[in-house]
Amino acid sequence: MSGMSCIQNDITTLRVDAIVNAANPSLSGGGGVDGAIHRAAGPKLPEACRKQAPCPAGEARITPAFRLPAKWIIHTVGPVWHGGTRHETEQLANCYRNSLHLARQHAVSSIAFPAISTGIYGFPNPLAADIAVQTCRDFLQQYHSPDHIIFVCFDPQTLSLYKQALHRFTKTETPAAPGQQK
Ligand code: ADP
Repeated sequence: MSGMSCIQNDITTLRVDAIVNAANPSLSGGGGVDGAIHRAAGPKLPEACRKQAPCPAGEARITPAFRLPAKWIIHTVGPVWHGGTRHETEQLANCYRNSLHLARQHAVSSIAFPAISTGIYGFPNPLAADIAVQTCRDFLQQYHSPDHIIFVCFDPQTLSLYKQALHRFTKTETPAAPGQQK
C-alpha cells in the first residue's frame, strides 16, 4: 500500500532507502539541507557528485549515501523563486517527479523529501507544499510506488502546511449514497 506522510525531523538521520537533497546545479554542496547532507555523508560524497554534475533545475541525479543511514541520495535542483514569472512552479513539480522516477529505477521503497526551494531559493512555503503533495499524489496514482513518501519538515510551521496539504489533496472521495445529494 503506497502512501504519503509528513514529519518534523532532520532528514540526515532517517533510515529510509533514499533521501532527497535540495542541491545546486554544480552539486558541489552548499548551505541549508545540502550542507547538512554533505557534512553527514562524509568526504566520498563530493567526488560522487562531481561525476554527475551539472544538474539543471528540475532534474535529478543519484549517488550512494555513504555514511548516512539511508542507502541513496537523490540530488535535485529546485528553482530559484523569481515571483513566479519563470516557470518556477513547473520546475518544482519536475523536481518531485524526476526524483520519484529515479527512485523507482533503483527499487526504492521509502523516500524522504525536504521542502525543496523554500530556504535560500525563496519559494513561498505554502505554494511549495501544495505542489509537493499534489505532484507526489499524482505520481502514486499513476505508478503505485514507491511505497512510502515522507515529507520531512525542519520546523513546526512547515509541518503544519504539509498536514493541511495532505488533508486537502488526499481526502478520499466518499460516493454519495443513492438518493443523497453530494
Ligand atoms: P533551497 O536552496 O532549495 O531553498 P534550503 O536547504 O535552503 O534549500 O532549504 C530547503 C528546506 O530544507 C528549508 O525548509 C529548510 O528549513 C530545510 N532544511 C534545512 N536543513 C534541513 C535538514 N537537516 N533536514 C530537513 N530539512 C532541512
